[in-house]
Amino acid sequence: SLARSLKTLSKEEIRAFVASIDYVLTDCDGVLWKELTPIDGSAKVLSLLKSMGKKVFYVTNNSTKTREEYVSKFEKLGFSASKEEIVGTARIVATYLKDKNFTGKAYLIGSKGLGNELSAAGIDFFGLGPDPVQTDNLPEVFDAKFEKDVSAVVVGFDLHISYPKLLKAATFLSNPKCLFVATNTDEVFPAACDNTVPGTGTLVAAVETCSQRKAQIIGKPSTLMFSALAKEHNIDPKRAIMIGDRAKSDILFGKNVGMTTLLVYTGVNSKEDVEMWQTSLDPSDKLLIPDYTLDSLGDLLPLLEN
Ligand code: PLP
Ligand code: CA
Repeated sequence: SLARSLKTLSKEEIRAFVASIDYVLTDCDGVLWKELTPIDGSAKVLSLLKSMGKKVFYVTNNSTKTREEYVSKFEKLGFSASKEEIVGTARIVATYLKDKNFTGKAYLIGSKGLGNELSAAGIDFFGLGPDPVQTDNLPEVFDAKFEKDVSAVVVGFDLHISYPKLLKAATFLSNPKCLFVATNTDEVFPAACDNTVPGTGTLVAAVETCSQRKAQIIGKPSTLMFSALAKEHNIDPKRAIMIGDRAKSDILFGKNVGMTTLLVYTGVNSKEDVEMWQTSLDPSDKLLIPDYTLDSLGDLLPLLEN
C-alpha cells in the first residue's frame, strides 16, 4: 500500500473523508507541540474539527504527567482539553494494575506524575527520586540489602535511572510472580535542539535485559490505550482517525485498533522514512505506512475550509 498526502485529494474526496470520521485521536508531542513550543496551526485544526462535531481525544505515551497536569499543559500551550479527553500512560498503567486487582507493593522506576496516578488508583509504591550509587566498591553495590516484598515493577520515564535501581528491579523480577509493566518503548524523543534524547524504551530495554523478562507495554502501539478510552466513550474505530508523528507508536496503534491513520512530518518520522518503508521488502516496515500524510497538522486547515 502507498501513503497518500491529504493534499492530493480532490474537494469531493476531502468532503467524503471528513464525513467518514466522527472521532479524531491524536498524539501530542510531535503533532501538537514540540516540548513546550506549540506547532503552528494544530490548535486551529483541532478546534475546527470540534466545531464540525468531531470528538477529539489525546493519546500520549508520555508517562511524566497526571491527567490534571496535562489539562494545564494544554491550556498553557493554547489547546483545550478536559481530563476525560486525555489518555496518558501514567494513568493507564495505574488502571491496568487496578483492573488486575493488584495488591501489595510496586517498585517504580519513573516520575512524580506516574507516582501520583498510582497513588490516585490506591496503589502502594516506592522508588521515586534519585537512588545514586554510593561507592565504587563493586561488592558493596552488588550485595546491597533492601526490602524484597515487591509484587510489580513499573517502568516509565525516569531522569534518575541508576545502577542501584536496575539492581533492585532485576532482583524483584527474579520472582516470576512479580508483574513487569512499562509505559512505552519510544527509543528517543524529538528534542528542541539537535541533541539525541534517550526515551523510555532505553530504560525498559535495560530492565528487560537484566531481568531476562519482557515487560507488558501499556502505551501505543498497544491497544490497551484504546480500550481505556472505549470503556468510557463509544468509539467506532471504523469512523475514527489516529494522527501521529512516530509510526512505530502511532500508526501501528491506529492499525492495531482498526482506525484510519495520518502521519505528520513535524516530529520523529519524515517523508523519506515513508518512502523507505514503501520500497522495503521487510513486512514489518509495511505496517508503518500510514493511509495519509501531511507535512503538518496545520495543513489540514485550508483543506477543511474548502
Ligand atoms: N515520554 C516522555 C517522557 C516524553 O517526554 C515524550 C515526549 O516528549 C513522550 C513520551 C512521547 O509523547 P507522545 O506520545 O505524546 O509523543
Ligand atoms: Ca509523538
